[in-house]
Amino acid sequence: MSKMNFCPQCGKTLTTKEKDGRERILCPDEEDCGYVFWNNPTPVVAAIVEHEGDIILARNAAWPPTWYALITGFLEAGETPAEGILREIKEELNLEGEIIEFVGIYEFHRMNQLIIAYYVKANGEITLSEELVDYKRLKDFEIKPWPLGTGKAVQEWQAKRGIFNEIIDFTRQVVLMFFVLFHSKQPIAARIRSKKQSTLVPQRCLKKYIQIQPILAAIHSIQF
Ligand SMILES: [Zn+2]
Repeated sequence: MSKMNFCPQCGKTLTTKEKDGRERILCPDEEDCGYVFWNNPTPVVAAIVEHEGDIILARNAAWPPTWYALITGFLEAGETPAEGILREIKEELNLEGEIIEFVGIYEFHRMNQLIIAYYVKANGEITLSEELVDYKRLKDFEIKPWPLGTGKAVQEWQAKRGIFNEIIDFTRQVVLMFFVLFHSKQPIAARIRSKKQSTLVPQRCLKKYIQIQPILAAIHSIQF
């Protein structure tokens, strides 16, 4: 639910009340203002990106060194989902993409997101955006999906290709990391470390990390 305290229309303190069968945050001035925070899911576009025969997974600067993910991003106003994911691929990898297949739409309740996933073939030379620090190439059968978010897209996409991989549930680790990030009073660099490497998540990445909402939706490849 929202952390909003005040009505964005009239500034009154928001209240919680049942409306249309659910508890909702709304303005107490129902007659003159009538603002209701409906908390509708946010659309997120995602892609299984194929480049030179490999699937590209990327690692965000704020993530632990072993976490790699599909390319994802928020859909922007005025664009179709297909335009949105091709824009993200251009921004994140500097590749020109072509939609090969619509994979599906997947709910992701934990982040209140709706994931719209595509299979995209992309051309060009990969140049990572500032948000990304690394990428890796995997064959289609090497990706291990997780049970939520984009993991479901990967599962279904692989199943159509006759690939049935073990599903890796690392939700706990992700939730734990979020907990540490939000509650840490120590430098983040001291708190989060990889089991394989000594590289730490730098403090300067914290703000960006928290801002990146699709992160939980995106991560689906992790190797401890
Ligand atoms: Zn109001």
